[in-house]
Amino acid sequence: MFENVFGQTGVIKALSTELSSKAAPGSRLFSGPAYSAKLTTALELARIASCLGNGDWTCNCEACKRSKSLVNPDVVIIGRKLIPEEFACGLDLFERQPGLASRYFLCRSIRKILKRFEPELYMNESGKLQNIYQLANPLFEYSETILDESVSKETILKEGKKLIPLFTKLVQAIPKDIPIFLIRAVEAIAHESPWGKHRTIIIEHADHMQEPAMNALLKILEEPPKTISFILTTRNINALLPTVRSRLRTYTFLSRNTLQLSAIYQKIFRLDNHTEPLDQFFNSFSLEYDVNIEIYAEQFVKSIIANEKNFDVTGLKEHITDQASLRLFIEYMLKHAVKIASDTDKSSFSKLQNLISICRENMKKLELFNISPGIILETMLFQVL
Ligand SMILES: [Zn+2]
Repeated sequence: MFENVFGQTGVIKALSTELSSKAAPGSRLFSGPAYSAKLTTALELARIASCLGNGDWTCNCEACKRSKSLVNPDVVIIGRKLIPEEFACGLDLFERQPGLASRYFLCRSIRKILKRFEPELYMNESGKLQNIYQLANPLFEYSETILDESVSKETILKEGKKLIPLFTKLVQAIPKDIPIFLIRAVEAIAHESPWGKHRTIIIEHADHMQEPAMNALLKILEEPPKTISFILTTRNINALLPTVRSRLRTYTFLSRNTLQLSAIYQKIFRLDNHTEPLDQFFNSFSLEYDVNIEIYAEQFVKSIIANEKNFDVTGLKEHITDQASLRLFIEYMLKHAVKIASDTDKSSFSKLQNLISICRENMKKLELFNISPGIILETMLFQVL
């Protein structure tokens, strides 16, 4: 059990003890920084809970087979996905090391997104999101061919690269804050009998939730049926309501040290001599859309209005690596500034106006003159901070 989770020995020990003593809580909270294996651990725990055998990693029961390829109906995932590069990274891994392990990595990177578009989650949503699962069909079919070992490496790579824009579109379609209709859908799912032995509902980035949704979730967490467990994950535990936190058993995931990172690169990505932080590694596969840039843009606008000086400039600079990413950052700032301009007070409004004109001016510089993105970013930060 938990063979695919690297490091996090404290959490794994606590979970293993609970499992062996049959003292597992119904609802858990995995708290910790980005890339600390919270989702991997949650998925492994879900696999163990639904396993019809003894729960071993090598178990080949029907539930485990489905869990490993992420098509087990007893594993439900909602919430944002902040690592969209995993798909491109999976293609790279498969290109370098074609084999069953990399086929699974690639397939799971897609299904982690597809899981969030299961029809039962969108049944009561009349908006455009309802049709998104149909849109995702080519990706689902593709994910099936990945696991078919008779399909050649070349075909998988060629088809995969073609599907990156569709994948990006899906990632973008995931609601940024978990809306109440998703929690209601989860509530309905929680009251159905599981497909197999036990159902696990994973809510990623649970701190990104609208208040009515949070309150609705609170009610389900009060008395979840015995055949259901919840795992919430968060990078920002303080943003969760204390009432929600009090219903969950918390597990703290730690940042990786160099030794652990090196093991992850070797064992998962088959790369020697790598110890850089995982976000840096994943960003090197950055697709056109980098969800982090949108978050930075929004935070940036907010901190300007609030006159806060604690904006994470270093983090931002790591994400702005080229012209495309800088353009994206400016576009998102403009979009957000315009969106909130209509309901802000007078003094904030003038700050927004100033920001909007600085954005436009620098966008022009970016498009018309051959100035390095780094210099433009520095100028912008100097102008507004
Ligand atoms: Zn099993």
